[in-house]
Amino acid sequence: APRPEYAEGALFQMKFYALVIWRLKGVVPRRLQLVYLGSGDVLTYDPVVADLERVERKLLALWDAIRLATETGEWRPRPTKLCGWCDHQSVCPEFGGTPPVYPLSVRPPESEPGEQGRMDPVRTEAGRPVAPEGP
Ligand code: SF4
Repeated sequence: APRPEYAEGALFQMKFYALVIWRLKGVVPRRLQLVYLGSGDVLTYDPVVADLERVERKLLALWDAIRLATETGEWRPRPTKLCGWCDHQSVCPEFGGTPPVYPLSVRPPESEPGEQGRMDPVRTEAGRPVAPEGP
C-alpha cells in the first residue's frame, strides 16, 4: 500500500474507473475498493456525481493538453523527485539535454466530418517510429 502522501494517485485511479462505469453503464457505482494484497490495506471510494463530473472535466483538460502537445511536438519536462532514477536525463531539457527529433508528422483529416487533423507516427517497416524527412 502506498504511504498516505501517495494515496491520491490510487484514489484518482478509482475515480477514473467510477467515471468509466458511470458513462458506459449509466449507473454511478456505490463503492469501489482497492485491495493491497501485500498489506491487506483497503482503499474505499464511494463516488458521487459531482465528484465524477470534476474528474471528467480534469480528464478532458488533460486530453486537450495531450492533443496540443501531440500537434506542436512540445512535451515539456515535468521534474519530480523521481528524476534521479530517470534513464532519460541525457535527452531531457531539464538536465541540459536535447530531445531527439519529434517522430510524428501531420496528416490531413480523414473522411469523418468535423474530425480534427490527426498526428500519426511515421514508422519503418519494422514498426519503429522514425524522424520525418526534412523539407
Ligand atoms: S529527467 Fe526524466 S522524469 Fe525528470 S523531467 Fe526529465 S524525462 Fe521527466
